[in-house]
Amino acid sequence: MRRIVLKLGSSVLTAGSEKLNRQRMLELVRQVAALHARGCEVVVVSSGAQSAGREQLNFPDLGKSLPAKQMLCAVGQSHLMRVYEDLFDIFGIIVAQILLTRDDLSNRLRYLNARDTLGTLIERKIVPIVNENDSIATEEIRVGDNDTLSALVASLVDADVLIILTDQPGILTEDPRRNPAAALIEDIETISEEHYALAGGAGSAIGTGGMVTKLQAAQIASRSGIRTIIASGSEDDVIRRILAGEKIGTHIEAAHSRSDSRKRWLLTERAQGALVVDAGAERVLLRGGASLLPVGIREVRGDFERGAALLVLAAGGKEIAQGLSNYSSADLRQIRGMKSHEIAEKLGYSYGDAALHRNNLALL
Ligand code: GLU
Repeated sequence: MRRIVLKLGSSVLTAGSEKLNRQRMLELVRQVAALHARGCEVVVVSSGAQSAGREQLNFPDLGKSLPAKQMLCAVGQSHLMRVYEDLFDIFGIIVAQILLTRDDLSNRLRYLNARDTLGTLIERKIVPIVNENDSIATEEIRVGDNDTLSALVASLVDADVLIILTDQPGILTEDPRRNPAAALIEDIETISEEHYALAGGAGSAIGTGGMVTKLQAAQIASRSGIRTIIASGSEDDVIRRILAGEKIGTHIEAAHSRSDSRKRWLLTERAQGALVVDAGAERVLLRGGASLLPVGIREVRGDFERGAALLVLAAGGKEIAQGLSNYSSADLRQIRGMKSHEIAEKLGYSYGDAALHRNNLALL
């Protein structure tokens, strides 16, 4: 099964006009529905709130003030979601709105919460539609552009591939407005300064991101072990064709495997506590790919919050893994040794079956 993050820019949703283009959006939704029917998991990162707001309010002249922009986004975001809801409904797919800011992705606890929520939606076959929480996000807490946001989301949900659809065929050798003969760069193994220089001028009139933010996004994804494809949203059946391996758009390779990058990331965290596990849990963990369940925990060391990095120790004291805790030390002391189905009864809530989920666990 493939997990795909699909970024749709304003210029794609409006087909270059000033209004959301329902026909274009329907065509994109149809493609997502087809993937969905094949068992692919799709997370959409969608811009277009501001454009939709402007359209809803009949293109008011508001100047450049931030509150006015935020008003547009507040009006437009709900409108945008209504359009998505209607379009996905044609295919019997339920959608969910997720609005994020930079804080949600850099604060550990909120990162875990966002990750859990997205994971739960995906499990339920619901298509999350993500945007920046524009109506409250000020400069200090904004990601700022949805290209970067889409890369952060791809890393958050551990996607296999990030597809950024835009109004250009991909990364070009020159600014196509200056030289119409600009050629498409089909493959980029490592993004270099040269690519940034090439992308410098090219940008569309609508939307925040130009080609530079797309390269930045691809670089974030690449470092997280995720491949990126930047392509034109107006190509016929573009998403299916990309996934079928057709040469279309610019492909940017992952710098290393996903498990490697995740492991590196997890191991850079300083442990704030430790869990001593029994022989059974040790055996299961060392086999790889398993979560640590409360039933295998013998002892909880240290005081920590949910989201803390923890060492996992074998009964003899040997360090065997490091991971992020789904529960605080106080919670773990209550549920250690218990079966996972007993967690909710004991605590009155549950953050899931695992103490350390396998996605957040690296063997040492
Ligand atoms: N979040 C903005 C919107 O929905 C778009 C940001 C971007 O295009 O990068 O209007």
